[in-house]
Amino acid sequence: MAATYGIEALSAGGRTVDWSTRMYLHPAGETTTSAYFVWVVRTPGGPIVVDTGFTHRLGRLKGLPVDQMRTRDELLEAAGVDPAAVSTVVLTHLHWDHFDVEGLFPKATFVVQRRELEFWTGYGAAERWHRRFLSDCFEDDIGTLRAGNRLRVVDGAVELADGIGLERVGGHSPGMQIVTVQTAGGLFVLANDALTCYRNLREWAPPAIHLGSIAECLEAMERIRTLAGGDESRICPGHDGEVWTRFPEVKPGVFRLA
Ligand SMILES: [Zn+2]
Repeated sequence: MAATYGIEALSAGGRTVDWSTRMYLHPAGETTTSAYFVWVVRTPGGPIVVDTGFTHRLGRLKGLPVDQMRTRDELLEAAGVDPAAVSTVVLTHLHWDHFDVEGLFPKATFVVQRRELEFWTGYGAAERWHRRFLSDCFEDDIGTLRAGNRLRVVDGAVELADGIGLERVGGHSPGMQIVTVQTAGGLFVLANDALTCYRNLREWAPPAIHLGSIAECLEAMERIRTLAGGDESRICPGHDGEVWTRFPEVKPGVFRLA
């Protein structure tokens, strides 16, 4: 029998945002909750972590109500994940709310798409409007990972392990990648910010943030829907507060997706 895995979404909490920041060209004036997550795939070889989340220091700098949010250390502890023992972290993309290391996961190798790394260490980092998407520690974090030979750069579709795949989809960020995981209930898609919310899929509206292109976003959404067999219960978007009610909360802030 093929390998299957469990998946959890660890949520620090969220903030109120306007729908126009979630769905491209949505009229302003209607609000929703933007939730923040880190994901954990349970494998016999130890947990694979998807994205790093961020420190409260950085969250505060970026305007998040961090005093009402859980820290990533609390979440990892609640999930029983020892950051020092994690060997693999997948980076879906390099925006600050997904990539802020600051010493976390000291032994892990970080898996990133070549296009994403090249964009954010070249044009994206040099262009001052784009820099808002990066942590203020970005260069330090990349430098630390490079110095420790802990960056694994991949191109396109990759089988990370039996039943765990990565696919570059672009769109939201130039080298954005999604993660597919075989679970007991079928193939699950960690769509991440290729799908900000379920509503992007339901109403067929690309994410409001699309540093790649709209065409890539739509292609990514089509791919996500196909991979999940059209079943929303096998998709986790990047920032949807609906995840909190759709999936069981097994520990404070820890939601079992599969
Ligand atoms: Zn994000």
